[in-house]
This record gives sequence, C-alpha cells and structure tokens, in this order.
Amino acid sequence: MAIPKDAVIRLDPEGIPKRWYNIAADLANLEPMLNPQTKEPVKPEELEAIFCKEIIRQELSKERYIDIPEEVRDNYVSLNRPSPLQRAYRLEKYLKTPAKIYFKREDMSPLGSHKGNTALAQAYFNAKAGIQTLTTETGAGQWGTALAMVSNLFDIKSTVFMVRGSYDQKPFRKTIMHLYGSEVYASPSAQTEYGRKILKEHPETSGSLGIAISEACELAAMSGGTTKYALGSVMNHVMLHQTVIGLEAMEQMKMAEIEPDYMVACVGGGSNFAGFTFPMIGEKIKGKTDCEFIAVEPEAAPSMTKGEFKYDFGDTAGMTPLILMYTLGSQFIPSPIHAGGLRYHGMSPLVSEACKEGYVKPVSYDQTSTFEAGTLMARTEGIVPAPESCHAIRAAIDLALEAKKTGEEKTIVFCLSGHGMLDLGGYENYLNGTLQSSALKE
Ligand SMILES: *Cc1c(COP(=O)(O)O)cnc(C)c1O
Repeated sequence: MAIPKDAVIRLDPEGIPKRWYNIAADLANLEPMLNPQTKEPVKPEELEAIFCKEIIRQELSKERYIDIPEEVRDNYVSLNRPSPLQRAYRLEKYLKTPAKIYFKREDMSPLGSHKGNTALAQAYFNAKAGIQTLTTETGAGQWGTALAMVSNLFDIKSTVFMVRGSYDQKPFRKTIMHLYGSEVYASPSAQTEYGRKILKEHPETSGSLGIAISEACELAAMSGGTTKYALGSVMNHVMLHQTVIGLEAMEQMKMAEIEPDYMVACVGGGSNFAGFTFPMIGEKIKGKTDCEFIAVEPEAAPSMTKGEFKYDFGDTAGMTPLILMYTLGSQFIPSPIHAGGLRYHGMSPLVSEACKEGYVKPVSYDQTSTFEAGTLMARTEGIVPAPESCHAIRAAIDLALEAKKTGEEKTIVFCLSGHGMLDLGGYENYLNGTLQSSALKE
C-alpha cells in the first residue's frame, strides 16, 4: 500500500520563507504603546535603551512584508526548518472521528520548541548592530535555552534571569543554558537593584516572569549600550519572526490540498499562535478562507477568556511601556502549572486585537485535561508534547470529538509548539495521580 501523500508534508530548505508577514498592516484598530509617565505614544528613541534600532523598526512597522535576511534563512536550517506538517492518523483512528487532524512540528527544533525562530532573528540583528550581550528572562527555560543557543551562531553573549521556582525545579534547563555558554541567574537575583529590593522584602519568593523581565531590562538599560534585551513573546517583532511557521504551513497545505476548518494553538504571550495563524488570518481578512482560529489558554492564566482589554504593563515592576491587550493585571500571579510558558498575565497586543476584531476564538482548559490529551498523543503518535502544547492538542481533540457527534469531515490543524522531554515531572504526576487541578481561584 502506498504511503498517503498527506502523511508527512515536507518542504526542502528553499521552502523557508523569504519574508515575514506583518499582520499590523491588516488590522484596522491597532493602538500604540504609551509612555506610562506622559501617556503619549512611545517614540522609537525611547525604546533604544533596551532594543537595537532594527528591532524597534520592526516593532513599529506597518509594512505587510519584511524581508528575512539571507543569513537568518541559512541559519533557520540549523533549527530544522522548514518543519514538517504531519497527519495524526493514529490519533484520528483512536478517536473514531471523521475529522482529519494535522500538526505542524515545531518540536523538531534542536531547542525543542518554536522559540528559536525569533531568538535567531533577534541575535542576528543585535550582533549586526555591534551589541555584545543579550539579556533576557526565562520561566520554564525554553526561551532562555533558545537565546543561549542562537547567541553562539552570531558570536554574542547571553545572560538569562531564570524564575527562581523553575531554577530550583528544573535544574536540567539550567544545565542546557550553561552548556551553550550562557550566564544564568535565579531571579530575583542580587545582580540588579530591582532584584535586591525584592529579595530584601521577600527573601523566600519563588519569583515570577514579570520580576525576571524587570531585572533583564534593568541590566540592559544600565549597560551603557553594550547590552540589549531580548523578549521571547508578546511584542510585535516576535510575532512577526514567528510567521515562518504559518507561511510554511500555508505552502504545505496548498501542496497537499488541505483546507483547514480550524487552526489551533496554545497561547502564553501569543507567539506560536500568532506565527502559526497570522498568515492565514491575513487570508481571512481578505475573505479568502472560512477557517476558524482557536487560541487555547490554561485556566490558571486565562487572559483572553477572563481578562480585560485595556492598557497595562508588560512586567511586574512597571518598567515597560503601557500596552493595549487582554490582561489579568500586571500583579496577577498564576498558580504554578507545569505549562510554565503559559503563565503570563497579558497577551500579545496583535493577538489581542485580532481577538477583539473577532478573528480569534479563545478557549481555556484545566491542567489535568491537557495532560490527558498529551498522554493520548504519546500513546497514538509516539510524541511526548510540551505541557504548553498539550493545551492545543486538548482543543484539537475536542473539535475532532465534536465532528464525530455531527458526522462532519472537519479538517483540524494544530501547532505542536514543542516537545516535553524535559517536562517529565508533570507527566509523572499525571500518571501517578498527584497532578493538581489548575482552576483559577475566584
Ligand atoms: C514558550 C512556549 C509557549 C508559549 O509561548 P507563546 O509565546 O504563547 O507561544 C508554548 N509552547 C512552548 C513549547 C513554549 O516553549
């Protein structure tokens, strides 16, 4: 029997996109970031304390396409791009659903997640601008790992503030960052004024992403220009870089004549969702597709399903500009679910606006039900998904079960944002029955 042509859809290296897609060109009502003191739109110069000029240009750009430099394309190959689009035949069969389920494999990067797609671009533009060190925060460790690795590709150093709780709970993440040559500090740390202040007030704190962001920004702002800050999600330039995922997926769907009814991805700060769906949402805005776009949140940090659409800070200390987004409030601290990458109080302003304009449907799930979906993925397709990605799989499975009820042959495509081989603690708890439910305390 011949292998069906949609079993695995691959592009050759020339299939790596030549330009990123910028949805800011197509969303009608985007509002600018504001300076918290003056309440005026942030001027490009004001961002220069922490970002290089090209990153700022991309952050504020309304151009529909931005060229991907050749050196970035060349290096995307080392992250295993283009990534395959694969059909989940055994999962479909297990569910006895008439739906077709496909997934885009961002888990096949040597970094284990999609985060390298923007880390690589940011390291390139900063290195080109003569910056010596990039500094950042990391929660579960995926983003810090990505930045640590790509820094080596462009001979630049990296300093990572890792949320204390993860630093203690996930020691191997720290090992990988050290292996790549990064400096790693548990946050709050004694390296920054803000860190020292928090440590004095709360010596036992397990930290938070918001605190770690504040520390990384402070280090960049105080460096006198040698150090810049790199962010792994939320901001517009990050969403832009991630569109390689969706541009490839659109090409692959065209090749295999796949017309998706649903595209599904998990959302923390929104970058894998944005990267995966924005090019197709661009088609939807032009009226060229009826596809629906499902953003899947944890119940522990339901910024779009339960948050407010308003101006808020991106961090806890209030050092970032004010951004218009769905937010639970910058002081909100989510319960410590295993999907560390989804524990953020806000949401990308571009994803927020796309949701506000009706192009994105947010849903949320409890932690236990997502691990159940991840376990099913492992037992049918043989892939251990990241706890974050389990949220997308849970929603995809529920859509497939809905299709079974109605007997409709729906086509569901989800983004497998990463693998879970470094998150086995969560699976261990799930399997032995000690996993905590994660519902928001009200
Ligand atoms: C960081 C991370 C996420 C969440 O971040 P987004 O910016 O929302 O994509 C999701 N999945 C994995 C595997 C991650 O590492």
